[in-house]
Amino acid sequence: MKNLLMEKVVSLCKRRGFVFPGSLIYGGLANTWDYGPLGTCLLQNIRSLWWERFVTKRDDIYPLETGIIMNPRVWQASGHTASFTDPLVECKVCHQRFRADHEVPESGDHKHDLTEPRSFNLMFETHIGPVEDTSNAAYLRPETAQGMFVNFKNVLTTERPSLPFGIAQIGKAFRNEITPGNFIFRTLEFEQMEIEYFVHPEHWEEAFESWKESMWKWLLDLGVKEENLKWRAHAKDELSHYSKRTEDIEYEFPFGWGELYGLAYRADFDLRNHSEKSSEDLMFTDPATNAKFFPHVVEPTFGVNRTALTLLLDAYTEEGDRVVLKLNPKVAPYKVAVFPLVANREEIVGKAREIYNGFRLRLSTVWDNRGNIGKRYYAQDEIGTPWCVTVDYQTLEDKTVTVRDRDSAEQIRVKIDKLLEWFSEKLK
Ligand code: ATP
Repeated sequence: MKNLLMEKVVSLCKRRGFVFPGSLIYGGLANTWDYGPLGTCLLQNIRSLWWERFVTKRDDIYPLETGIIMNPRVWQASGHTASFTDPLVECKVCHQRFRADHEVPESGDHKHDLTEPRSFNLMFETHIGPVEDTSNAAYLRPETAQGMFVNFKNVLTTERPSLPFGIAQIGKAFRNEITPGNFIFRTLEFEQMEIEYFVHPEHWEEAFESWKESMWKWLLDLGVKEENLKWRAHAKDELSHYSKRTEDIEYEFPFGWGELYGLAYRADFDLRNHSEKSSEDLMFTDPATNAKFFPHVVEPTFGVNRTALTLLLDAYTEEGDRVVLKLNPKVAPYKVAVFPLVANREEIVGKAREIYNGFRLRLSTVWDNRGNIGKRYYAQDEIGTPWCVTVDYQTLEDKTVTVRDRDSAEQIRVKIDKLLEWFSEKLK
């Protein structure tokens, strides 16, 4: 039943243009995906809401956009060259590879005969310039975090922030995952929205608790059902090499509970190591006491693609014969669809066009005049459009239109000149 949900969502995503299998005209490439027009809007809405909440509206968080390719010494200092590994086992019979720390799926025709685990580094290696040798090896970043640590001093000197403060960035990260899969849950390239929050070492615990609350609230405000979410604290032996305490928000995906976001206490691991290895002074000087120290770091990290997957799965609803994506209107690709009731009455089509053109510069709006009105409603329900506006015969008499609500399927009449205000109110 649950896996059926995943199949349904994957198929809807392909059919309606949220997510397409990557490089499809060449037969695809396993576990790569491209986002279609609707998926791209969904991702963009997730990013902008996150940005507005955690960067624009706060006066203690500074944005950055750093490179995907960095000096390889960054990854030595951060511990990724040595320790960003997963334990890999291989079946001696079928040569399939698995993560030793995950459950190994059974094979139909044989019992897997597994090798001893060995460490597999997840960083994607590449080479800079025309000659491939070890001296010019470089990596695609496996996390956006390091770009923020290596620019710590630049932010200090240009912005002169006081503690606590954060640095935020949204960007792509790459990992050569042993077992990618589950649609867009685990892919080789993905996007992160991360914050490195720098605090006085004595205050890390309160920052951790406060981020826990903020992360939870973000998801509830996005409309994710609370019963599908939980916190899970990492046990000592599963902590990443840089972390002293980590808790993940997990979502109950159709394939089981899985990490959606992470919250890690990285202490002064990164700044201290980069300071040592680069010989740059990355300490913070307290302006009141002149005391110098390495601030400690609490890092909330949010996967953009896992957010999209969560929102799609959580919103997917079947009611009788209609499929409704009950997305929060704020993340829905289109907020409003505008229809002329009939295609052959010039005044009706003209009026509908006028409304559409007035709207589309202010709200993400779509036009549809194909098929009958019922089919148009169904088509919008399936992609999560919260409101449909229909211009009909009555419009020509009293300047009102029908506004139909996605979730209740109820219809009310609203004056044309009150429409924008009506939607803006709902989208607050
Ligand atoms: P997992 O345990 O699932 O491998 P992780 O603990 O390695 O994840 P983090 O290093 O904490 O993940 O990465 C931060 C966030 O980036 C995750 O919470 C998730 O949202 C996202 N993320 C990590 N790896 C992937 C991936 N391969 N595909 C899509 N999103 C990912």
